[in-house]
Amino acid sequence: MGPVTAALKYHFASDNTSGICPEAWQALETANAGYHPSYGADAITAEACETFRQFFETDCEVFFVFNGTAANSLSLASLCQSYHSVICSDVSHVETDECGAPEFFSNGSKLLLAKSALGKLDPTDVERLITHRTDLHYPRPRALSLSQSTELGTVYRPGEIAGLCQIAKKHGLHVHMDGARFFNALAATGSSPADITWRAGVDVLCCGGTKLGMAVTEAVVFFNHDLARDFEYRCKQAGQLCSKMRFISAQWLRMLTQDTWKTHAARANKFARLLADQLGNLPGVQILYPVDANAVFAKLPDSIKSGMKDRGWQFYSFIGGGSRLMCSWATTEADVESFVADARASFG
Ligand SMILES: *Cc1c(COP(=O)(O)O)cnc(C)c1O
Repeated sequence: MGPVTAALKYHFASDNTSGICPEAWQALETANAGYHPSYGADAITAEACETFRQFFETDCEVFFVFNGTAANSLSLASLCQSYHSVICSDVSHVETDECGAPEFFSNGSKLLLAKSALGKLDPTDVERLITHRTDLHYPRPRALSLSQSTELGTVYRPGEIAGLCQIAKKHGLHVHMDGARFFNALAATGSSPADITWRAGVDVLCCGGTKLGMAVTEAVVFFNHDLARDFEYRCKQAGQLCSKMRFISAQWLRMLTQDTWKTHAARANKFARLLADQLGNLPGVQILYPVDANAVFAKLPDSIKSGMKDRGWQFYSFIGGGSRLMCSWATTEADVESFVADARASFG
């Protein structure tokens, strides 16, 4: 391998390598005036929570935390006792990328891995895991966790979510949705926010802000009030209660108004499709999964992989059996063209 001479390019390495979108940045600036009550007792936070209720057309309870690992772990902990289990996909972020935090914060609730196809839970295997043991030696299934969009960039259709929720409810399980990329999924389906969450049977949604273009925040949205009991104490104990909460809330408020979320999520989705189309045309390149949202998984020939590395492009090749390329609010057509031109030049 020759020396790396090109500057490193992180454009497609993840959807959190981009900066903060202008609307969120402006909201931070606006929130910076004057003095306000702390720890979420301010008017901006109240308004942001109310905006969530309008957005989801229901009286949900909303909490803001700093990141997705905390959102997932703390919400799953509130669905389970320590002797319970959480059914999730074998490729889910809660299983593969949270360093055991869901087990830690739930004091030991076990994750049970269901088979998945294209990142989506296999309903038959979910039901098998729930029913194949009912004795007290087995960690009792109590929650089902699904990711929307999935870790492989696919998106559950409303009927698929409702089907999984139906299985869960039939057996007394609560449903958790890891929505680190919820808005990409929402923009992709064109469904209403309510239809792909609580109306389909989701009890709690971890709603991703950071990858959408905000600074350090995810929202935990409880559609089931009983499950939200004392959640603010969990957040505080876990070090997830922001004292200057207004800076988080102000961004959410701005992103949920004027369809700002949709502008950014749809843009990321659009450029992922363009990237997949153009990359997929190159000889030897195979696009592995449907590009429903903002992720492209590609099997790249070794010549392209090493050529891209020499040209400075950074991306992961250990997720999902291929090279993962993520688009974000900041992706431009020129970025896509530049990546594809380098891939073409790398070939052969
Ligand atoms: C990024 C991501 C998260 C959140 O990760 P943090 O780094 O803890 O913010 C959660 N779930 C999925 C599917 C993700 O891609």
